Formats: sequence, structure tokens, C-alpha cells
Amino acid sequence: MTDLTTFEGLLDAINDDGGREVLNPATGQLVGKTPVHTEADLDRAVATARQAQRDWAARSHAERSEALNRAADAIEASAEALAGLLSREQGKPLNGPNARFEVGACSAWTRANAAFPLEPEVLVDDESGHAELTYEPIGVVGGIGPWNWPMMISIWQIAPALRMGNTIVLKPSEYTPLSVLGLVAVMNQVLPAGVLQVVAGEGELGRALTTHDGIDKITFTGSVETGKAIMRTVADDLKRITLELGGNDAGIVLEDFDVAAHAEDLFWGAFINTGQTCAALKRLYVPDSKYDEVCQALTDLAQKMPMGEGLDENNVLGPLQNQAQYDIVARLVDAARDSGATILTGGNPDASGAGYFYPTTLVSDIDNANPLVAEEQFGPALPIIRYSDLDQAIEWANGLDVGLGSSVWSDDLDAAKQVAARLQAGTTWINKHGAIDPRVPFGGMKESGFGLEFGVEGLKHMGLPKVTSW
Ligand code: NAD
Repeated sequence: MTDLTTFEGLLDAINDDGGREVLNPATGQLVGKTPVHTEADLDRAVATARQAQRDWAARSHAERSEALNRAADAIEASAEALAGLLSREQGKPLNGPNARFEVGACSAWTRANAAFPLEPEVLVDDESGHAELTYEPIGVVGGIGPWNWPMMISIWQIAPALRMGNTIVLKPSEYTPLSVLGLVAVMNQVLPAGVLQVVAGEGELGRALTTHDGIDKITFTGSVETGKAIMRTVADDLKRITLELGGNDAGIVLEDFDVAAHAEDLFWGAFINTGQTCAALKRLYVPDSKYDEVCQALTDLAQKMPMGEGLDENNVLGPLQNQAQYDIVARLVDAARDSGATILTGGNPDASGAGYFYPTTLVSDIDNANPLVAEEQFGPALPIIRYSDLDQAIEWANGLDVGLGSSVWSDDLDAAKQVAARLQAGTTWINKHGAIDPRVPFGGMKESGFGLEFGVEGLKHMGLPKVTSW
């Protein structure tokens, strides 16, 4: 049997010699070849998942939790191999809050879902009668994901789906299929056959998954545009749906913010995964009194954080994952410069190398209506917008159609909480941004999402609520 604890063994297990080449976005070198599945392959996977679901759903919660814990053990045993694969395919460095961190989150989320209590909830228990709420498996879940955190986002779909007694068929992003195939191969060493499968292909295969009559629920993470298309598609047969979509997160610095104490938190809130993170800080509103100090602190950090090829342990920032994303960032930063904004650092890519490297970029003296502020640029650029009136800053923060995350930066917790209460976002962090926890529900307001992930609340979104009353 192939040894999936080594990178070579893992790649050998998933590589398809006749498949499509996947290149490392840092070097342009071949990582491996992905299978390209057809709709007939999808039909087979769904049929297998339906068959497997009967036995899986009949198991107790304790048995399913035990299986998930064994899967987490397997992820931990293959952690370095998985991180190496992820780094080569996605581009993110092994080091820093990147590839190893992502693989660690995969086992953490799996264990957390294994541990969540799912006892019947007693709603009424008095002389008028009794009512209990339980959650039943939905059936076969179709999971569709993006390319930025491909393993972690797959786990957000896999772990609660399986714990609840569903089986799942994943359709990873065409940019990062190997990472998901690798993760699933590792977990399938210990999971029962058929409960967890992957079909690799482009958006059209994702669409086929959403229209498939053997699929009972779609859980999707990706762009707002695709989320809307999927919602329209599943309306025909009323499939259950969870949508985790794009964002354009605002952060508001208050007057009493201790810049030196939290500058690194601010930096990583914006630039984790080279800014390719749905809930990363994308627009920072700073009062006049703190403006120069915040700009300087972030510029100092941006200039000292090493960016480069992911397998080099010195690097903490990697390339953009693909040409299309690189082009979006370059276009928006160029347009900001042309409009008269100041590029404090970055913004001037060296096009001579092989990878999609775009330097860490900070932009000041920029108007709130500038497209670099108003559009989801999903890369390593942060516009810093000056404000003199807090109400105005809150209005700007709330002024977009999306509302995934947001943050408030202040030494006064009460003042920060008052501002947090006025921000239209699924999560508002205080003195941090994007810090997720498997126990804490996560989801978007407005066009950023529909439904919840994580925590017992997220687990319940993978089940059908069922009331028994007597
Ligand atoms: P995308 O919407 O282009 O693609 C996501 C997935 O959908 C891919 O697997 C793609 O093949 C598939 N797809 C495309 N068209 C489809 C269709 N018609 N039907 C079904 N599937 C289809 O998104 P992306 O560019 O891969 O990812 C980046 C986006 O994801 C950003 O907007 C980011 O904010 C968002 N995102 C959100 C979260 C969150 O938790 N809210 C997390 C990560 C990324």
C-alpha cells in the first residue's frame, strides 16, 4: 500500500498520468496531474454515496465521531505531506499562518465536529405536553469549494456533513484539485468506503452537481456571482443550501488604539494567505489622529515580511494563486495610483520571475469610492482611508452589498463593542480580524452568505430539523 505520510507517496496516490497538468503558481513547475471527471463519473459517485449513506446514517453519533477522530489522526500522520502538496499547488508557504496552519485546522475542525453534543433538545415539558427537537441526516451533500484555502474549506464541508450522518461528494476548484484529492485520500484510509468522494472538474461539473437529483443539499464556498447562480439552480428542486460567499471586510480604528501593540494583528488580518482570504481585512478606516502612525507601522511590517516560494522556510507570504487573480489586483492598484492615491509600499511587481508574485501593497490618501476600496480585490493590497467623523466611517463600512467580517481596533472594549453592534457583518472581531474557531458559528450577512458553518449551529445546518411532540 502507498505510504500517504510522504509527499511522494501522496502524490503517487492521486496523480493521474493521463490527466491535466497542475502547475506551481510560484515557479511554473509541474506539481502533478489531476483527473478530469465527466458527468458519468459524477453519476457513479452520487450512486455510491447514496448506497453508502444508508449504513452511515444507521450508525450512532458515537460511531461516526470515532470514525472522524480516526480521520483526524490520519491527517495528523500525513500533515507534512499534505502541507507540501498544498504549498506546491496553492502557492502558500509552509511557514507562517499558511500551509501547515491550514492542515492543522483540518484535523482541529474534524475533531471539533466529532465532539459536538447532539442531544435531543427538550422544547416543551410541562402539563401542556412535550416537544423535542432532533436533527436527521439530509442524505447526500454536494460540496463545492474555491482555491484559496482548499483543504480547510473542504473540511468545513466534510466534517459536519459526515458527523450528521450524510455522505458527501466534493467538487474542488479547478485551480486546486490535488490538495482536495490528497486530503480525501488520507481520510479515506480510515473512513468507510463511499462516504467521502471527490469529482474533479471545472464549473460545469459543479453545475451538474447542483442539478443532480441524487444530491439533497449543496454547500458552496466561492464568489457571490456563482453563489447566486447556484441558488437559482437549486430553486427548481428546493435542495437545501448553504452559501459562504465573498466579502470586502472593513476595519475601523478608533482614537485610542494602541498601534504598536496590535500592528502585527492588523497586518495579518489583511495579508494572511497574501490577502486571498474571504474574511481578510480589505479596507481600513483610520482617524486623523492615528493615520500617519498606522500607515507607518503597516509599511514597516509589509517591507520586512518575506515573500517567495512556499517550500523555502524563510517565506511567510506566497504568490497569487493564478493569473486571473493577479490581473485583478494589478488592475485595481494601477487604477488607484492613476486616480492620485499614494502607494506607500509595493504596487510595482517585478514581472521578470516565473510566479504570480505581487508585492505587499499599502495605499493611502484614497477615496472611499475608489474601486480598490469598493471591489473585492482578494489580494495583497490594503487601502487605508482617513476619517474625521466616526459615524461617517461606520456608514462607509456598511456601504457595500457584502457583509462577511469586520473589525474594530481600540483599547476601550466598551467603545469597540458599541461600534461592533453597528457593523453589518456576520462576525465583528475586536483587535483581531479573521480569527476563526471551530466552536464559533461563521457566516455572512447581505450578499456574503446564507446559512452558517462551524459550531453546533453549523452542524445543525447539515441536518433536517425534526420535532416529536406528544
Ligand atoms: P468561484 O465562485 O469562481 O468558484 C468556486 C467554485 O465554484 C469552483 O469550484 C468552481 O469550479 C465552481 N463553479 C463555478 N461556476 C459554477 C456553477 N455555475 N455551478 C456550480 N459550481 C460552479 O470562486 P473562486 O474564485 O474559486 O473563489 C474566490 C471567492 O470565494 C471569493 O469571492 C471569496 O471571497 C470567496 N470565498 C468565500 C469564503 C467564505 O467562507 N465566505 C471562503 C473562501 C472564499
